Amino acid sequence: MNIIRSLLLTILVLAGIPAHGIDAAQQDTSSSHYALARALAIKKAAMLTLQAKSNSAAPGQFETRENYNWAVVGGGIAGILSIGFLIENGVHPSSIAWIDEKFNVGALGKDYQTVPGNLSTQQWINTLEKCDYLKQCPYDPIEYLKQFDLDSFYSLNIIVNPMQQITHWLLNQVYGFRKKVVQVDSHNNDWYLTLSDGSLLRAHKVILATGSRPRSLDYPCDQEISLPIALDKSQLAQQVKPDDTIAVVGSAHSAVVAMMHLSELPVKKIVHFYTHPFVYTQKIERGIVNAESGLKGPAAAFAKDMIEEDKVPNLVRVFNDKQGRDSWLPQCTKIIYAVGFTPNTIPWFSGDPLHYDDTTGIIARNLFGFGIAFPEKKTDAYGKVERRVGMPYFVEYGKHIVPQWVLMV
Ligand SMILES: Cc1cc2nc3c(=O)[nH]c(=O)nc-3n(C[C@H](O)[C@H](O)[C@H](O)COP(=O)(O)OP(=O)(O)OC[C@H]3O[C@@H](n4cnc5c(N)ncnc54)[C@H](O)[C@@H]3O)c2cc1C
Repeated sequence: MNIIRSLLLTILVLAGIPAHGIDAAQQDTSSSHYALARALAIKKAAMLTLQAKSNSAAPGQFETRENYNWAVVGGGIAGILSIGFLIENGVHPSSIAWIDEKFNVGALGKDYQTVPGNLSTQQWINTLEKCDYLKQCPYDPIEYLKQFDLDSFYSLNIIVNPMQQITHWLLNQVYGFRKKVVQVDSHNNDWYLTLSDGSLLRAHKVILATGSRPRSLDYPCDQEISLPIALDKSQLAQQVKPDDTIAVVGSAHSAVVAMMHLSELPVKKIVHFYTHPFVYTQKIERGIVNAESGLKGPAAAFAKDMIEEDKVPNLVRVFNDKQGRDSWLPQCTKIIYAVGFTPNTIPWFSGDPLHYDDTTGIIARNLFGFGIAFPEKKTDAYGKVERRVGMPYFVEYGKHIVPQWVLMV
């Protein structure tokens, strides 16, 4: 039966028909038939390159070609910035394929719009001002931001809205694919992306801006509240009850925001499991310390003025070692893990894990990583090494590295 299924898939792939309706078990990538079919399909796509280039349809239409100079995977902040920097550096928009299932500004648009941001309106404006191409969007993102109080820190929808408008504008210039990339292969110095409908597209260079998801742990506590829910106060309110004792694990921005929300909701107790004191972003003469890992904005104010000053009456702080967990976890009815993020991965043909150079973003020849999944490593004024995550850092880093990626042959 499996052989018949594999042969069927082989025929579909060779005929260029997307594998709709074939379940995951049937797409067994280890099968030799499937491997043969993929190799032949890649060759077929390679042969079609010149033909497709001369037949190119107008950009702004979805899925009209198979071959591109560039493909950008991911429609979050990093994907949007990647497209802007490529165009800024002379890449023609019609030679770019852009792939994302939703194009709604990635994780910020999907899960975190109501989370308090760590940048003031002015800082968001300063960041966008540096994006020479994106700021030309006719929707005028900078003018939009200027309607808000410049010194205030708003929730993240302040930046999601203009980035969504920029996304629509860019999608009228590049080729957008509302799909997921399910596999990345290389062949003859080109990259082949298999999309979720089984179709294949080829690009000479690829940027993975595929983002990250929250990490979890397996402490003995019956009910986990997911981080996106913990960071949205109205959703969190639906999940907690007055007799709940809620564990919050972690001490960075997300943990503090979760505790800030819990402190305003009717819960019996909040147990904060920490391993190190709160870290704040600080300006010193030689520069900024803990620029990335430090607390900023409303989260910093809540940690300093409320938690450190013991002004949250139902909050207990517990050092997160075995003894602390053994004493306190049995009392906790629910748990929130705010312990960092882990990069989303795309399977690739070789099966090896992706490694990237964290000073150049290079993963392999003409394959680059950008955004929260592939952050830049930088040493701060005190010699502390940080992985820089956040839109201002992406802009600074992207302006430096994307021109180099464009020049590479
Ligand atoms: C809670 C929270 C608060 C933050 N607050 C701030 C802040 O205040 N200021 C700031 O500057 N930064 C902030 N950040 C950091 C950073 O700006 C965001 O994490 C941002 O979302 C990172 O953008 P990204 O494009 O790298 O990833 P994401 O937003 O995760 O986008 C990745 C996109 O790629 C898509 N994708 C993944 N795999 C595939 C695939 N195989 N095929 C096709 N598409 C794929 C995903 O669906 C998603 O749309 C915050 C982050 C978090 C988590």
